[in-house]
Amino acid sequence: MASIDSSSLLVSAAVPAFKCPAGTKMHILNLGTLQADESWFVEEYEARRVWLTTISRILRGANTSKLSDLNPTNKRRDLVLLSALIEYPGVGLILYETGCAEDLEVQWPAPITDVFPRVEYSDNHRLPNAIKATGNDIKDVKAVIIGHLHLDHAGGLEHFIDTDVPIYVHEEEFKHACWAIATGADLGVYLGHYMLLEKLKWNTFNESQLDLFQGIILYHSPGHTPGLCIMQVNLANDGPFIWTTDQFHVAENYELGHPHGGLARDHTAWYRSLNMIRRLQRLYNARLIFGHDKDVATKLIEEKPYYE
Ligand SMILES: [Zn+2]
Repeated sequence: MASIDSSSLLVSAAVPAFKCPAGTKMHILNLGTLQADESWFVEEYEARRVWLTTISRILRGANTSKLSDLNPTNKRRDLVLLSALIEYPGVGLILYETGCAEDLEVQWPAPITDVFPRVEYSDNHRLPNAIKATGNDIKDVKAVIIGHLHLDHAGGLEHFIDTDVPIYVHEEEFKHACWAIATGADLGVYLGHYMLLEKLKWNTFNESQLDLFQGIILYHSPGHTPGLCIMQVNLANDGPFIWTTDQFHVAENYELGHPHGGLARDHTAWYRSLNMIRRLQRLYNARLIFGHDKDVATKLIEEKPYYE
């Protein structure tokens, strides 16, 4: 019996308004690279994995001292900064996340630039220039979606100050960011001067699943932060993509179900979100773009100039 591609059935037939309209283009923008100790986003891990041919010690964040190795050399990892730029017929440009602020030395406190230095940042990584390289102009952005408000995802909101561009973010995320900053409960990953209450056109929602535009669906995926939202984009030719933002910093977080290290917050919620996204991936046969996985992003960027 011939196998059935369930994703094609679902995308083309199950829900009438499910695909992005013809002519939609999705660009993957590279906004530079940060570097950090692996212990921030993957935990020390050692296990026998049945799908591996050998008993492997998977050196993700293998920076924990052991009796046999009291002072291990800490591994560091390059973390790409990403944004999705969607050319959407009838609407204009839609942006999912915005990377860091342009001037990190001014916008980020010194301990953070030391722990998470930006090691690659040239003119073409600046958000307006990255958009220009696709043949578009940042002035034509009509909507910004922020998956979560951490300092390396919401920095580019500086380009939308005093404009009418709606900034879509889950209500939980918006409230949590304000609370975390004001009380100091999680200050550092959130920054007060990003949360311009009156100079940005905040537009919150509280649905657990929101069809923001036809074929663009946001899913509340708490864990890394309380209000994080992933974005699914159903493209007519290239099929569904899921942008996970920092629910998964790197592929191992998803593929091995391996939780974050120092950047973990609510583990139970994170694990539930992991299962939800695995179900979505299976249901739609979606390709995943992780928050900072440089290999995954580079491969996709090199495969095509854009997806449609
Ligand atoms: Zn984050």
